[in-house]
Order: sequence, then structure tokens, then C-alpha cells
Amino acid sequence: MKGSPAENLRFIDRMRGLRSLGVALAFFCVAGVFYNNGANPLAWAALVFNAVAWPHLAWYLARRSPEPYAAERRNLVIDSATSGVWIVLMHFNLLPSALLVAMLSMDKICVGGWRFLARTATAQLIAAAATLALYGLRFEPATSLTQILLCLPFLMAYPIGVATLTFALARKVRRQNKQLEELNRIDSLTGLLNRGHWEDALLGELKRHQRLGRPATLLMVDIDRFKPINDQHGHPVGDEVIRGVAGLIQGCVRDIDTAGRYGGDEFGIVLPDADVQQAMVVAERIRCGVESGAFGADGRLHSTVSIGLAAAGADMHGSRDWIASADAALYRAKMLGRNRVVGAEQRLKQTG
Ligand code: GH3
Ligand code: MG
Repeated sequence: MKGSPAENLRFIDRMRGLRSLGVALAFFCVAGVFYNNGANPLAWAALVFNAVAWPHLAWYLARRSPEPYAAERRNLVIDSATSGVWIVLMHFNLLPSALLVAMLSMDKICVGGWRFLARTATAQLIAAAATLALYGLRFEPATSLTQILLCLPFLMAYPIGVATLTFALARKVRRQNKQLEELNRIDSLTGLLNRGHWEDALLGELKRHQRLGRPATLLMVDIDRFKPINDQHGHPVGDEVIRGVAGLIQGCVRDIDTAGRYGGDEFGIVLPDADVQQAMVVAERIRCGVESGAFGADGRLHSTVSIGLAAAGADMHGSRDWIASADAALYRAKMLGRNRVVGAEQRLKQTG
């Protein structure tokens, strides 16, 4: 599959190695039959050229092409066409012919699937038909023991080479997928979990609470009067403040707590195994930390946060209920004048 320009060049470099191995091993297969057939000097010259020079010429042509990936695919079609010529010139000697068809089909499927195989097989057939027209049909399918022995290196080493390359590529794709997944989980501005993944963690904690009865508390944190910071100092400075508050939150929570960026200037923190009183202590630590902190590139900006707090409840139907409860408390904190921590009413009544 076509990739970035750098990936295409790496593909061409890999194909040079694989092609060098393939044509070198195929040389012995074909040469064994040519020797017995008494093939003409032109056929021998073509075979030697194919084994020695073609991999490097193919690499050079693809590398200097304005469309390197398309050029390399053309080279692969030429590989198949050439094998069609060898098969006719070998008088359809069974084992080397079958080997050429099988090995070339394998690497074509690895590169471009069955559709690409259909294209290269067509080239193979056309080249074989043209060679038949020029050379005439000779059919001598029997393979001697010497010819079998000369085919063995191709039979054994080439599939191992292709499999090694395919495994290395599959491992690279797995690694890249993992990195992508990781990037996808993280909010790029703050380095905290993004909303979707944080909500997954929140739901997991709510289910754990409902299953085991372990306490868990949610804090929703929102920066006070953040819009004016953006308006007066610009968006990049606003970003610095968001990043600074996120860093402070991260420094105030335990390893088992999960902080995420809920959106804009709002953060959510799940505190497993923490009741409302314990969570209050954490929330106050965050609030005081922001109040006494300094933000922005020159460290001259001051800010505050309001925090709403809600314990997990057995009656909650999902993470949205839990967030709504903490958000309602956050709203009250804003209404009461900001820069404060307020617990969800229901829970506060329960806790005293
Ligand atoms: P309040 O005290 O009621 O929370 O007032 P506020 O001004 O903070 O109001 P609000 O929380 O609604 O404002 C959030 C603002 O955050 C609105 C939006 O322009 C800004 N914002 C959202 N995402 C980003 C961001 O990634 N970077 C910056 N710099 N600003 C953002
Ligand atoms: Mg705000």
C-alpha cells in the first residue's frame, strides 16, 4: 500500500534486498535446467544479467522515478514477466517452474494482495506466450535429482526471507498502532487524559463502587473568569494557564487518581477509595495551589478555580449522572462567588 515518500523509499530499499536474494536463488534453479537443455548464449546472458544486475537497476530506476512506488510496482511486474520467459525456456520443467510461480505469487500478494497478483500473473502469461511464439513449444516436465537439489536453496531460503520481512513489518505496524492509541488517549495541550478516555475511567470507577461499595469521589474543576484572560492576554497565554492548572492538578493527586481535561478550562478528577472528606482535602489543596500559583510565560498571571465535588452513588445510572451531580456543585461554587470548593448537596447532607 502506498505510504509517505519516506516510507516508499524504504519499501524500494527493502525490495532491493529481497529481489537480490530471490534472483540469486532462482538463478541456480533455472541454470540447472538450462545446463541440461543446452540453452543458447542469449538465454544464459539474460539469466546472468537478471541475477547480477537487475536488482540494482530496478532499485536505481525506482529511486530516480518521480513516482517511486509506482515504478517499484512496475519492477515487480517485470519480475513476473521474466519468470514467464524462464518457464518457457526451461521447457516447463516442473519443479523449477512451479517454484517460480509460487514464490513470485507469494511476494506479490504480500505487496499488493490478490488484485496485484492478478496483474503480475497476466504479465507472466503474456511474456510466456510471447516467448512461446518466438521459441516454439518444448515440453519436458521431468525434473532430475540435480535440478531438485539446485532448487532446494530457493525453496527453503526465500520463504524464510519473505516471512522475516513480513513479520518485521507487522511488528512495526503493531508498535505504531500502540503509539497512535496512546496519542489518542491524551489531551495534547495538558498531557492529561482526553474527555472520552477519562469518562471511560470514570464509568469504570462508578461500576466498581456499585459492585464493591468502595467509596469514590469526583471533582470537577473550572478556572474562574478564564475568558477575560484569553481576551486580555491572548489565546497562547490562556493555553499556558490551562497547562499550568493541569500540571498543578497532576501534582496534587495520587497515582491511583485519574485526572482528565473535560473540555475548555474544565477538568475532572476521579478519586478512588476516597470519601467526601478526603476528597475535600485534595480539592482544597488544588484550590489553594492555583490561588497562590503564578502562570503565563513571565509568571505574573494569577488565577483561581472553583471545584464541585460529588461522591459516587448506588443510584447513579452512568458516568453522566455522576458528572451532573459534581457539575451542579461546581455551578453553586460559581454562584457563591468562585474560588471555593462545594460538595453535592445530597452527599453533604449524608456526610454531615
Ligand atoms: P467562569 O468563571 O464562569 O468559568 O467564567 P469563564 O470566563 O472561565 O467562562 P467559561 O469557563 O465558560 O470559559 C471557558 C473559555 O475557555 C471559553 C473559551 O474561549 C476558552 N477556551 C476553551 N478551550 C480553550 C483552549 O484550548 N485554549 C484557550 N486559551 N482557551 C480556551
Ligand atoms: Mg471557567
